[in-house]
Amino acid sequence: MADSTFPAAELDAATGLLQQLLRIDTTNPPGNERAAAEHLAGVFRKEGLEPELNGSCPDRPNLTVRWNAKPENRSARPLVLSTHLDVVPADESKWAHPPFSGHNDGTCIWGRGAIDMKGFAVMAVAALTRLKRENLPINRDIIFAAVADEEAGTRHGSQWLVDERPDLLGDDPEYVINEVGGFTVHQKGKRFYPIQVAEKGVAWIRLTVEGSPGHSSLPANDSSVQKLASAINAITAARLPWHAGEEAKAFLAGFAAPENAIAKKVAPLLAHPKIGPRLLSLAVSDPSRRASLEAILRNTATPTRLRSGDAINVLPGSASVDIDGRLAPGQDAGDLIRELETVLRPVTGNAAKFEVLQESPAVSFSKETPLFRQMEKGLLEADPGSHIVPSIIPGFTDSRNYAKLGATCYGFYPLQLPEDLDFAAMFHGHDERIPVAGFHWGINVLTDTLRRFLVSGR
Ligand SMILES: [Zn+2]
Repeated sequence: MADSTFPAAELDAATGLLQQLLRIDTTNPPGNERAAAEHLAGVFRKEGLEPELNGSCPDRPNLTVRWNAKPENRSARPLVLSTHLDVVPADESKWAHPPFSGHNDGTCIWGRGAIDMKGFAVMAVAALTRLKRENLPINRDIIFAAVADEEAGTRHGSQWLVDERPDLLGDDPEYVINEVGGFTVHQKGKRFYPIQVAEKGVAWIRLTVEGSPGHSSLPANDSSVQKLASAINAITAARLPWHAGEEAKAFLAGFAAPENAIAKKVAPLLAHPKIGPRLLSLAVSDPSRRASLEAILRNTATPTRLRSGDAINVLPGSASVDIDGRLAPGQDAGDLIRELETVLRPVTGNAAKFEVLQESPAVSFSKETPLFRQMEKGLLEADPGSHIVPSIIPGFTDSRNYAKLGATCYGFYPLQLPEDLDFAAMFHGHDERIPVAGFHWGINVLTDTLRRFLVSGR
């Protein structure tokens, strides 16, 4: 097992660093990532590296550090280890331990960001400093990036870096290692490790419906609010068509691989546009698992913000809802709008008007790379008998920006998790915490994977 390779004192230091980082409140909004970025910069300076802080506003810098390969060893484009330092808000009254305490209960370190994703920030720091201390003859430059603003749209973080200072990311990095992958998924007594190779796209859309304005002391059957309510009901009840691409098919096949012959036959049928929707209800009994599978098999449209009039006694002439739409690979906002128009025609006729507020397509990366093979090997060595699954996530990360630099981006944040920890609930949920043993395991896996990859490159 990999545990023997990493000095125990450095693992303890990593735990301490994580606790320190969790005590720095980087809730976004407003973010205020500077103190956390400076804290990490201090750690790198002690290792003889020269961190830089740059960004679009003073309180929200992005930290980048570059460890250069010796010219005689350099044979490949840089690799970026990326993390974000901002966290989503936490309602302290709902937590068993305060969200910015970094509390260690002997099993877990508690705090907002423990999983998403200060834990990986510390893992990457630990791996990089270990390899530097070993004087590893790396074959490419390694860049560590701790960015701001991932949780509120990436504008001050990875988007700013990619648009304004791509030089800080090595201009054309070959690979980026980022979040959402490498953690244990327990299923029917088997252990899986997804490695993220794709992210769905985003289509934020505003739906507006018109209605007869008037005095609300006289109830009307065709008010904009009434129509909008019907439209929202129709959208949330609709099951939009399946669009299972290669990414979703590989994901389904990965989970079916260690199962029996029937499961292996059922997996590709779940992706079938006609059979899949009906088969999914029969084949997957757990509702939350069914919902997460559906989310990768089709476009989704989730109504969030509502707007209508501003007087209580006036029927507003129009009402609108903002829809968080997510796109399957190959789909665009126009495709999703056409699907929603089909749903709404019997409900609102042609009264519904759509406006695209923001759009960015799905991103997808090949798994046929030397780095993917090393990540796979690293996980399988550290957890023999487990299974690796190339995965697609319904959300997005900083990877959608890094993809613009031509980088192949993977979600690989190795973390061994016990079966009873509800990992999905840790993301943005109450009582976010990271198991110390699994965190140390992850430091080993990341370090061993990088050690092999950065020297051999195979
Ligand atoms: Zn995150």
